[in-house]
Amino acid sequence: MRDSLAAREELIQHRHYRYRGCAPVPAEVADFPGQALGDPALHIDAWGTVDRPDDDPEPQRERVARERAAIAGCGRCPVLAECRVYANTETVDGQLAEPAGIWGGQRSLERHRALIARRQADTAAPAARPAAALAEARTVQKQAVLRALARETDEELVAYRAGMDVRTANWHRAILCGLLGLDKATASREQLLGRARELGVLPDGTRIRPDGRWPVAAAPNGDGSRQRRIAPGRPEQIVLPGYQHLPRGRRPSPVPAGVVAATRRARRGPRLRLVTPPPVQLPLPIVLPSVSVLECAA
Ligand code: SF4
Repeated sequence: MRDSLAAREELIQHRHYRYRGCAPVPAEVADFPGQALGDPALHIDAWGTVDRPDDDPEPQRERVARERAAIAGCGRCPVLAECRVYANTETVDGQLAEPAGIWGGQRSLERHRALIARRQADTAAPAARPAAALAEARTVQKQAVLRALARETDEELVAYRAGMDVRTANWHRAILCGLLGLDKATASREQLLGRARELGVLPDGTRIRPDGRWPVAAAPNGDGSRQRRIAPGRPEQIVLPGYQHLPRGRRPSPVPAGVVAATRRARRGPRLRLVTPPPVQLPLPIVLPSVSVLECAA
């Protein structure tokens, strides 16, 4: 849905806006004040709600005739499309930008019905995402982050499993929110993974470790220098190097080498070695082969 202020700006900046049907005829050529440009027989109030006392409401027959005439005037208006888009946008508090009167050739009731239908459609099915956004969510790095996020809740472990540093992993998490149509300021980790599964970005059988408490993306710090921890209630993160920068291979032991060798010898017990006894000559004409036995060398 378009932003209502932006849509209004686009309408009033239209190069034909001054020729709109509900604009007043210029005073120098008007036969009477308030004459409508779209239909000189109409007053511009025909597009609005008629202000009458409560005990003397506008008769229904008159209202219907007035609205029909105004809608016909809209039909000849050069900014009909822009006007309709603007009138159907929603303000920040969820109201129609123009809840009353005739706008864009529509009555108030039609716009309210359209608003209700949009909301029902939004709750019935997730908004269709553009194919380009879904393709971007399937890149190798973002898939690695999603799979890691399904297995882990701690941001360091997510980053480790995804094979990147924490900051990069958090950045991918925030970008994934936008690609899958979620608000990164409010979306939880489970919402992101659930949406990814709905849209086929994560395989159906992917097991998601439950934890709906954590927001999916880290809020930026005020100074923009570093991201805060994702997990709520935990202290600020000590920035760790990426796991790929951690020292690899065997680390030097703090215990001297001689002490280590003596400890190993003591653990092994007495050493054994292979000895071959001399052949035994029996009285029989049989000479037994040599037999190797292990004897204690100690
Ligand atoms: S579409 Fe109708 S209400 Fe909108 S500017 Fe034109 S005449 Fe006025």
